[in-house]
Amino acid sequence: MNIQQIQEARELYGIDGWGAGYFSIADNGNVVSHPTGEEHLTIDLPEAISKAKSMGIHPPMIIRFPQIIENQISRLHSAFKEAMWEYNFQGSHRAVFPFKVNQRREFIDSIVKCGYKFNYGLEVGSKPEFLAALSYELGEDALFVCNGFKDREFIDLGFIAKAMGKNVVLVVEGPDELQLILDQAKLQPQHCPYIGVRVKLYSRGSGKWAKSSGESSKFGLTTIEVLQCLKMLNEANLNEKLYMLHFHIGSQVTEIKRIKNAIKEASRVYAKVHKMGYKPVCLNIGGGVGVDYDGSKTSFASSANYSLQELANDVIYEIGEVCKNEDVPCPQIVTESGRVIAAYHSIVVTDIREVQSTESFSTGAEFDLFVPSDKPAHKGLSELKYILDNINRKNFVEYYHDAIEYYEEMFTLFNLGYVNLQDRATAEQLFYRICRRALFFSSYEKHQPEEFENLQQRMVSKFLANFSIFQSIPDSWSIDQLFPVIPLSHHEKKPTHKATIVDITCDSDGCLEKFIDRRDMRNVLDLHSPSQKPYYLGFFLVGAYQESLANEHNLFGAINEAEIILKEDGKWEITKTTIGDPIEELLITRNYEIPLLWESFEAQLSRAVSKEIIAQDEVARIKDHIKEYLNTTPYLRENK
Ligand SMILES: *Cc1c(COP(=O)(O)O)cnc(C)c1O
Repeated sequence: MNIQQIQEARELYGIDGWGAGYFSIADNGNVVSHPTGEEHLTIDLPEAISKAKSMGIHPPMIIRFPQIIENQISRLHSAFKEAMWEYNFQGSHRAVFPFKVNQRREFIDSIVKCGYKFNYGLEVGSKPEFLAALSYELGEDALFVCNGFKDREFIDLGFIAKAMGKNVVLVVEGPDELQLILDQAKLQPQHCPYIGVRVKLYSRGSGKWAKSSGESSKFGLTTIEVLQCLKMLNEANLNEKLYMLHFHIGSQVTEIKRIKNAIKEASRVYAKVHKMGYKPVCLNIGGGVGVDYDGSKTSFASSANYSLQELANDVIYEIGEVCKNEDVPCPQIVTESGRVIAAYHSIVVTDIREVQSTESFSTGAEFDLFVPSDKPAHKGLSELKYILDNINRKNFVEYYHDAIEYYEEMFTLFNLGYVNLQDRATAEQLFYRICRRALFFSSYEKHQPEEFENLQQRMVSKFLANFSIFQSIPDSWSIDQLFPVIPLSHHEKKPTHKATIVDITCDSDGCLEKFIDRRDMRNVLDLHSPSQKPYYLGFFLVGAYQESLANEHNLFGAINEAEIILKEDGKWEITKTTIGDPIEELLITRNYEIPLLWESFEAQLSRAVSKEIIAQDEVARIKDHIKEYLNTTPYLRENK
């Protein structure tokens, strides 16, 4: 095996940075997972895919590792435990998982199961999320936090959950919501849940979600509204129900300094409320912990300049200092981290179907240059051929410019009707080969001339990946988020293509043209020739928000899934599989009624029979085919 090449691949794709101990490239050139975070326990991903295929689960597919979820939950809790010990903090820490980050049942099942021993709770922001969350048995001390805007029904659900034994906290977004709670508390005082108040902080987050916080944020109460709520509680004689102060400064906060500032401010609010005679138990610091998608550990939008431990240390230290200074008891700190818990646990795997390149050779459709044509070859063609044969490191700039001239001349002649399609094809092929050579020579220059940088971008190959960006990584389309993308095998070989990725939707936005880099961002991804089939690409760190924001553009729905568990003996097993949305279900979501579809198909078939376009005995076969297709997923199948 080519160990040196494999080491180069590790650096090229930065996997040891963003992989966080969960993903790496093994010495056989395959990408492997270490779901328990232990380097010697591995799951070979190409092998896992073949296993899944033998069970009927084909790419595009999601591979889930519940053990990564468990490990992240445990990393979060130990980070706080360690920090509390380090700073001799007199309060405690409890965490909840925010439902909106990934509502798939398969995923929440794992969250609840792995989190039980930590009293890990849930956080919801809408009535459907509430009802789904209510169905789970949580640990006895686990919290059930309700954020978001609430009507009377939502608040009634809070009373119902309290009656069912949940530790419900209704976090109010304004005095009107509090009034609704107080009204219902008069009727059912015994079922009144805990009350929380979301505070609008002056401090802002950083990164793409900075506007979730600060004075102009749509969330939280202003200082005067906080005071108004305190007064309302006092007048209703329900001061002891004030259980939590809450803030959340936005997702993927890239700079730890921002979190520290917000914590300082929120701790003061907590202390001052205490001094007014109220006894809130919890200070809920929301989510926002960043995931280092590019492995750079910087404040760049797709990174974060701190670790979980550094975050926990700062949070505990700052809150401890303010409480000491103000002489109030330390709170129970509640965290609502979602992204950092969920992101690592899943991978989207796609197969490459086709490569579109300016040069035909990379598609395998080698076109015979100088095909015989009825006219003698044009002068332009022989000149281009001469340039291709003679371009070198000394003359490439001049020869490249000459080639542009001859190439454009061929097009002028084509437009005038003097050139046939064969000669046009030959000119294209010669020209792009010259470009490739010129690029090769220019790459040796100290300062690459700008025209060659642009040429580089024009010469990239487009790899057609069998998936929908809108379904599987919607944030890459909507907010230009970067995810690590890497071929799952072949790392023992040098990549030969500079590529961008296009998906199978009929939308020109369905493409990826920006890729992670440790120092910056890249316009191309290095890939191998996919002629060595199968060639799988993995999209990593997609477990947070991508499934909840997925949409069915072009009616491409949820993809197949396989859940993999590593066992104690070091072997692994596919423990659960889920088939993606069949076409039939996708049609139903757009109000098509399947019986009516069948009525129409049957009417058209009998008309075709009566017009003798088809024979009666073909009808059954056609209907069988339609039935089968309605029951398959919409993605491209392997052509057998
Ligand atoms: C979205 C959200 C979270 C989760 O944020 P992450 O950045 O995913 O950790 C936590 N709390 C509230 C109130 C939220 O709206």
